[in-house]
Amino acid sequence: MAGVQTAVALREHGFTGGVTLLGAEPHQPYDRPPLSKAVLLGKAEGSAFDVDFEALGVTLELGREVTGLRPGDHELDTARGPVPYDVLVVATGAEPVRLPGTRDVPGVHLLRTLDDAERLRPVLAEQHDVVVVGAGWIGAEFATAAREAGCRVTVVEAAERPLAGALPAEIAAPMATWYADAGAQLRTHARVERFEGGVVVVVVGA
Ligand SMILES: Cc1cc2nc3c(=O)[nH]c(=O)nc-3n(C[C@H](O)[C@H](O)[C@H](O)COP(=O)(O)OP(=O)(O)OC[C@H]3O[C@@H](n4cnc5c(N)ncnc54)[C@H](O)[C@@H]3O)c2cc1C
Repeated sequence: MAGVQTAVALREHGFTGGVTLLGAEPHQPYDRPPLSKAVLLGKAEGSAFDVDFEALGVTLELGREVTGLRPGDHELDTARGPVPYDVLVVATGAEPVRLPGTRDVPGVHLLRTLDDAERLRPVLAEQHDVVVVGAGWIGAEFATAAREAGCRVTVVEAAERPLAGALPAEIAAPMATWYADAGAQLRTHARVERFEGGVVVVVVGA
């Protein structure tokens, strides 16, 4: 998102040099907010930005992960060979915290990319019992979408309240009711310790 905005802003401000956008994902650049809403619920297929990169003179290099940076040489490394630059903008975003021991475990998902949302869509459609780890914005949105899809939903949150890292208590307080309103069970002061054969073990009061 920031990479796309930077490229568009450079052109809007009259920059005439070459602009190349490298992205690890194979998809056209897209907006992430709809992933936990319309895309997840199958109400939208995708959320690609409505930007004509060709008309802007911006070269898109999709599916091209940057594996290294050599500032002395002004070059990036990728599996398809090095990419030279004069000026580099690093806009690589933030990865979700992956809980220890959950990589490639069936039934455990992250929600960050279009592929993640597409993998989760049928899971919601099957109306499983769902545990959401983290009562932040995305946890709240996912819980709401899962309830809308007919799943039983429990949200576990290590902090004493939802959105503890994002908002002061007095602003976040009314938002704790979102969960009850949506029919989801919220368990705060509950830190996930491990996963055991389809059961999430939490430490209460952590
Ligand atoms: C499900 C979901 C819902 C959200 N909903 C909202 C919302 O409602 N409102 C809101 O304000 N924000 C929301 N956000 C947050 C918002 O999407 C992010 O703040 C925003 O995407 C951050 O933009 P960014 O450019 O910093 O990073 P990103 O959008 O993550 O973009 C970084 C890009 O860098 C690429 N990349 C990373 N490493 C490499 C590499 N080594 N080589 C090549 N490419 C690489 C990634 O593939 C990615 O495409 C949501 C996020 C998610 C995941």
